[in-house]
Amino acid sequence: MKQIQRDGFQNRLAVPKGYYETDDMIETFNEMMTQLETSFNQQKQFVEDASHELRTPLQIIKGHLNLIKRWGKNKPEVLEESLEISLSEMNRITSLVEELLQLTKEASAHPNFETENVDINAEISARLRSLANLHRDYMFEYHSPHKEIRLNINRFQFEQLLLIFLDNAIKYDQHNKHILIRSTKKNKVIQIEIVDHGTGIPEGDIPYVFDRFYRVDKSRSREMGGNGLGLSIARKMIESYQGTVEIESEQSQFTKVIIQFPEQKF
Ligand code: ADP
Repeated sequence: MKQIQRDGFQNRLAVPKGYYETDDMIETFNEMMTQLETSFNQQKQFVEDASHELRTPLQIIKGHLNLIKRWGKNKPEVLEESLEISLSEMNRITSLVEELLQLTKEASAHPNFETENVDINAEISARLRSLANLHRDYMFEYHSPHKEIRLNINRFQFEQLLLIFLDNAIKYDQHNKHILIRSTKKNKVIQIEIVDHGTGIPEGDIPYVFDRFYRVDKSRSREMGGNGLGLSIARKMIESYQGTVEIESEQSQFTKVIIQFPEQKF
C-alpha cells in the first residue's frame, strides 16, 4: 500500500492532500475487494467440491433404484444387492454431510464446547484400549515419559482428533499393522506423535493432504469410507487451540503425524 505523505511537525497529510487521501483509499478498497474475491472464490470452490462429492453416491443410489424398479419384483437377488449398496451410499452421504457441517461450524458453536483440564495420556490410553478391542490384529504401542500430561481442551474434540489420525493410521497400514504413539512435554510444548508403517504418502502429495477433499488415491480412500475431509477438520481443530500439525512420510515406509500444543499453566 502507498504511504500517505505527512509533514514532519504536525503529522498532517502533505499537499496535495485530497489527491493522496483518495489514492490511498482506492488502494485500500482494491485490496479489500481482492481479499473478498479470493474468499468468495474459495467458498465457491468448496461448494463445487462438496456438490461433486455428493453427486457420486446420489448417482449410484439412483442407478440402483432404477434396477429395483425394473427387476426388483422378479429377482430378489437384485433387490437385495441394490438395497445394500444404496444403504451403504446413504451412510456415505450422511457421514459426508456431518463432516461438511463440522468444517463450517465455529468451534464455539459446538453444543458440547467447553474446555477442561484433560489428562491427554489417560485419554490416549482409553482410546487405544477400545481400538485394540476393535482391531485385534493390530499392535498399538504407546510411550510417554510422563505419568500425565494436562491440556486445556474440549474432551470431545480431543477424542475426535485422536480418532481421525488413528483411523487413518489403521486404514493406511493394513500390512504391518503396527502403530506407534508417543506423547511428551518439553520446553513448554506438548507433542503427540502417531506413526504407522503403511503405504506412506508420496513426497509431492504431502503439502496437500490437509486440503479439503484431497486424497492421494481417490478410489482407495473411497473404498475405505474416506471423504478426504478428516485431516482438514483435524487441522482446523488443532489451530483453534493455537496448535500445529505436520506430516512426515516416506512412501511404502511410514507416516508420522506430529501434533503440538502450547503448554498451559493450570
Ligand atoms: P480420508 O478420509 O480420505 O482418509 P483425510 O483427510 O483423513 O481423508 O486424508 C487425506 C488423504 O491423506 C488420504 O486420502 C490419504 O491419501 C492420505 N493419508 C492420510 N493419512 C495417511 C496415512 N496415515 N498414511 C497414508 N496416507 C494417508
